[in-house]
Amino acid sequence: MTSAVVVGSGPNGLAAAVVLARAGVDVTVLEAEDGIGGGTRSAELNVPGVLHDICSATHPTGVASPFFRSLDLERHGLEWLWPQVEAAHPLDGGRAGVLFRDLDRTAEGLGADGEAWRRLYAPLVRRSDELIDEIFGPIVHVPRHPVLLARFGLRALQPASWIARRWESDEARALFAGLAAHASHPLSRPTTGGLGLMFGMTGHAYGWPVAKGGSVAIANALAADVVEHGGRLETGHRVTEMPQADIVIFDTSPGTVLQVAGHLLPGRVRRPLRKWRTGPGVFKVDFAVEGGVPWANDWAAQAGTVHLGGTFEEVDAAEREVHAGRMPERPFVLVCQQYLADPGRSVGDVHPVWTYAHVPTGWTGDATEAIIGQIERFAPGFRDRVVAQTTSGPAQLEAHNANYVGGDIGGGANDPWQLVMRPRVSPNPYSLGAKGLYLCSASTPPGGGVHGMGGFHAATAALAEIGG
Ligand SMILES: Cc1cc2nc3c(=O)[nH]c(=O)nc-3n(C[C@H](O)[C@H](O)[C@H](O)COP(=O)(O)OP(=O)(O)OC[C@H]3O[C@@H](n4cnc5c(N)ncnc54)[C@H](O)[C@@H]3O)c2cc1C
Repeated sequence: MTSAVVVGSGPNGLAAAVVLARAGVDVTVLEAEDGIGGGTRSAELNVPGVLHDICSATHPTGVASPFFRSLDLERHGLEWLWPQVEAAHPLDGGRAGVLFRDLDRTAEGLGADGEAWRRLYAPLVRRSDELIDEIFGPIVHVPRHPVLLARFGLRALQPASWIARRWESDEARALFAGLAAHASHPLSRPTTGGLGLMFGMTGHAYGWPVAKGGSVAIANALAADVVEHGGRLETGHRVTEMPQADIVIFDTSPGTVLQVAGHLLPGRVRRPLRKWRTGPGVFKVDFAVEGGVPWANDWAAQAGTVHLGGTFEEVDAAEREVHAGRMPERPFVLVCQQYLADPGRSVGDVHPVWTYAHVPTGWTGDATEAIIGQIERFAPGFRDRVVAQTTSGPAQLEAHNANYVGGDIGGGANDPWQLVMRPRVSPNPYSLGAKGLYLCSASTPPGGGVHGMGGFHAATAALAEIGG
């Protein structure tokens, strides 16, 4: 029987283990931490009974993932829950750009800019399943929808600032800025527009749901599938030496691969792994808030995700500062209110409010006041409602998950080159160039996010090479 070890139990590692276990491979997942899930973990952090997501919060890529959709994870208890409003981007004076699942409703809310919003997204939303199959497919494949992919690709390469030229209002421009800022990159850089298109398209086509009972439900469902097919999971097992197995798949950073298996890799693979660049970090604060956040804008009070940073220009300026290694006074902040869709995470009127700010890589300061300041700006009185708070800067994030080097939660900088060539130029970027060795983490295509596609492709490549 073919044997396999998967190093790391994030969504990509678990996805790889599912593919291998289902193919009859004897697979063991080794996880360094005490709990499985990597970026999909949840816990009571500060108030008993109030459930926080430690890392990922909302799951546009999870619900859209062709691999997850093929698994029927609902059998293992996964349930997606959608908020009333996918995302809001408040502005001063109680205004906001609002992303509803419904494209027409979103366009209506954007007034004179609505038609241009509709024209941009309607063709993508109409063919979202085909487009997702192309984007989440193997890096080299014969496209089944070449014209669609080419049209999307040409736009996706553009900076967000070019795409935003079609809108005049602060609301539409800021809404797009918040979507594109998920790239953690100045909005004038190529490919940032692509992130704006992807996040808007997934919002309109699939919504931005949360997992009932916390993001850990995704990890638990994948793990149950692994076990159901004969696989094993071991927690508290940090891999520092090369495991013995026919197939070894790393759901880790390229740096960990070099430490554990560097001596086995050919120079053409070792070199790009050594040169791999991390992106900016995040500083996370999980609040327990009595009565929820008192947003000045009513739609923000119903939104699963709220992007804070003000106008397009302000968000861009904050991202530029972070990229230059400086902490902006008013950083780009994400707020998630998962409890709106999943009320079981709250206790009485005390609710978990998930936030993070973009900060420079490895930043050692405390961004709590900057985050509270941005929330207060759009929700005066927030500070007085905070019952408890738990902070995690880049160092703590890395200490709890070795993949988050310097607090970078995306598995590497999303600059135009690394966004596509992850972690190196190759028709099979999952292969580490030595028999049976693969990388499947967010440092491989299609990159960061909870979707399991890196794991699926790496395991599929391993089965093609080694067999089941
Ligand atoms: C604060 C935060 C917020 C986020 N928000 C979202 C969001 O809302 N939506 C979304 O889609 N994505 C979000 N993400 C990103 C998402 O969580 C990651 O992109 C995703 O989890 C990557 O999956 P992965 O399997 O590649 O790696 P990870 O989930 O990072 O898992 C890697 C696992 O490998 C383990 N490991 C590492 N080294 C070793 C070793 N030597 N031995 C054994 N085990 C090891 C780690 O402990 C970890 O469990 C967020 C991430 C963070 C941190």
